[in-house]
Amino acid sequence: MAGGAETGGSCQIVTAARVVVDPSFPGSLRCTATPKLNMSKQTWICVPCRKVYMRKKYLTSVECPKCQGPCELVHTWGIPPSPKHTKAWDEFIARNRADAARLEASRQAERERQEQMQDLIRPKKPSPPEEHVPYLAAIRLPAIKTLTHSAGLPANQLAGHAANLEFWVGEAKHCLAAIDGYWERFKRLRTRQVEYEKQHNMPVTVVSLRRGIGDADRQELRRVLLEAIEQFLSRCRREGLISTEELKAALAELGR
Ligand SMILES: [Zn+2]
Repeated sequence: MAGGAETGGSCQIVTAARVVVDPSFPGSLRCTATPKLNMSKQTWICVPCRKVYMRKKYLTSVECPKCQGPCELVHTWGIPPSPKHTKAWDEFIARNRADAARLEASRQAERERQEQMQDLIRPKKPSPPEEHVPYLAAIRLPAIKTLTHSAGLPANQLAGHAANLEFWVGEAKHCLAAIDGYWERFKRLRTRQVEYEKQHNMPVTVVSLRRGIGDADRQELRRVLLEAIEQFLSRCRREGLISTEELKAALAELGR
């Protein structure tokens, strides 16, 4: 048995008769005769057992017959050095892992490139004609983000935002009105579109006019928004930046 390579199952032995130590790379093995590359197999290594196995190319994972642990596929060119030459073997393992990581990174980049290409060539679904979630989410998110951020600021910075209390309560009210008025707007939109289609002898697209956002989602939008403005107001009150009366008035404006 040479170089830690061994027979077993369908694996192919790397025998001493075929390989010798390469003087230019101590510890490595190379073929003595014309190298006979077995294109149908690839090399796997069990690192803990320091064993090399040849397995059919179609296999995507190999279990070490000795320890039943997972083997690592050899990506690095050349025959692995003998495990007896600890330094060369360890270097080979490290190099192989670096090669494997590079290969995976380039495969990932290629997958992403393919996906981007697919996105570009895939026929775009026509946008649903109704006003849908993104608008509500879009107007709500900056307000929530800013209010949540402000509520966590040091008191001196919070004081600056408290000076714009009216503005922030107004923003929150506007978002709440947009959320609450969604269904009414949607019904108007649908009715008008159907009328137009009938007047112009167009196929009526009632089916495509579905509600873009459910009641539960709108309630959740509402809840998160109110939570953000209330946190902001409570913190302003705790820091003495607004009076209890101002707090109550702001909450009343928000219907709390
Ligand atoms: Zn093993």
